[in-house]
Amino acid sequence: MNINFDKQFEQLKSQAKASKPPKLLLHVCCAPCATACLLRLADAFEVTLYYANDNITDAEEWEKRLGEVRKLAQIVNDGAFEIRPLRPLKLVVQDLDAQRYFERAQGLEKEREGGARCAQCFALRLGDAAAYAEQNGFDYFGTTLTVSPYKNSQMLNEIGLSLQTPSLKWLPSDFKKQNGYNESIRLSQKYGLYRQHYCGCVYSKNSI
Ligand code: SF4
Repeated sequence: MNINFDKQFEQLKSQAKASKPPKLLLHVCCAPCATACLLRLADAFEVTLYYANDNITDAEEWEKRLGEVRKLAQIVNDGAFEIRPLRPLKLVVQDLDAQRYFERAQGLEKEREGGARCAQCFALRLGDAAAYAEQNGFDYFGTTLTVSPYKNSQMLNEIGLSLQTPSLKWLPSDFKKQNGYNESIRLSQKYGLYRQHYCGCVYSKNSI
């Protein structure tokens, strides 16, 4: 039975708004997905963006998407976004090491998008986020990936929950709910953000 992670998110957000803002490390796959997520997060959490995406195996593309994340963070911090953050957004970047992704994807190259290769890809990136969050005193870690209709939110939340520690909690989410994906398209157009046409790895690029 599917769990309603969007409802869980709303409950947690209500608690966050009634307390000292929790520190959230938000794994960001790309700027367009981050737009709609920030709209729902920025008034309740102290957000740090975490760009860790070894799955974007083409270095030029990885740089391009990072550039758009920087641009979005600047827009938000300049007060030009639709919602003001509680604190200026910070951005942490993990250097690209595509080899780590290829090791995870070995033997799964021919998997369909959404299958076992993607589960490994999610585990790699969420694992990186959890490790950084744990080492740097965050209360929560979460991801923008659940905004995409191409990403299985149940799978993402299960992986995230499995990475929790006694001092670090997973932020449950299903940001594609409440019109999240369409909001990400609208906001990307409004702020002139580049929207890629494939997920990230070479296999997803070759399948378009
Ligand atoms: S299709 Fe996307 S989520 Fe799946 S392995 Fe490739 S980059 Fe990762």
